[in-house]
Amino acid sequence: MLRVHSVESLGTFDGPGIRLVIFLQGCNFKCLYCANPDTIECLGGIHYTAESIVQMARNQRPFFGARGGVTVSGGEPLMQARDLIPLFKMLKDEGFNTCIDTNGSILTADVKLLLEYTDLVLLDIKHIHPEKHQMLTGMANGRTLSFARYLQEQNKPVWIRYVLVPGYSNDVQDMHHLGEFLEKMDNVQKLEIQPYHKLGVHKYEALGWDYQLEDVPTNTAEQLNEARDIFAKYVREVVVN
Ligand code: SF4
Repeated sequence: MLRVHSVESLGTFDGPGIRLVIFLQGCNFKCLYCANPDTIECLGGIHYTAESIVQMARNQRPFFGARGGVTVSGGEPLMQARDLIPLFKMLKDEGFNTCIDTNGSILTADVKLLLEYTDLVLLDIKHIHPEKHQMLTGMANGRTLSFARYLQEQNKPVWIRYVLVPGYSNDVQDMHHLGEFLEKMDNVQKLEIQPYHKLGVHKYEALGWDYQLEDVPTNTAEQLNEARDIFAKYVREVVVN
């Protein structure tokens, strides 16, 4: 059984084409800007069988076209890697495109097996600088970078996702360092810059949590252009999402 926070039909944001997106409950990070803080708590969620999710995918197959398919996101979906294996096996047996949106902090034998049934990884690298990563997410980034190297060894297709938080993750030198790290990864097809937004702030109030980035403004066009120009030196395709 998978513990699911919510399901999005006909999603166009999390991977190629039109997709069924399954947001799983539970995350091992606590990012200051998390837009879905209600997915962090590991307990709870609604129980779904793999079969019920495959049936949703079958129903939506006419909309997927040549590129679409199923994405698991969260929360951190790899916390439920063992239960995702049968789901992804079934999806691949029926010819669906499969995609995982992950913070890359978990690399167990289960995760390695799951990756064999995964067409594309959306790898969220929150920060290249270890201490700034710790400050932003509550966790170190060593595991995420090791995960990236493992995906490179496996030649697994990857899109990198990078949230551009003014004053936190838009330092020019840091972005060059991340670019230099990614430049060595031939399997990285794309980098998506995700502009910082505050759409999830009301959820913090509902949870009784402080939103610590209250004073951080959204990105200026100049900041987004600067980030795009820097990353374009290292990655073949860069988009602002
Ligand atoms: S990794 Fe994603 S789901 Fe987890 S806290 Fe960070 S932004 Fe939220």
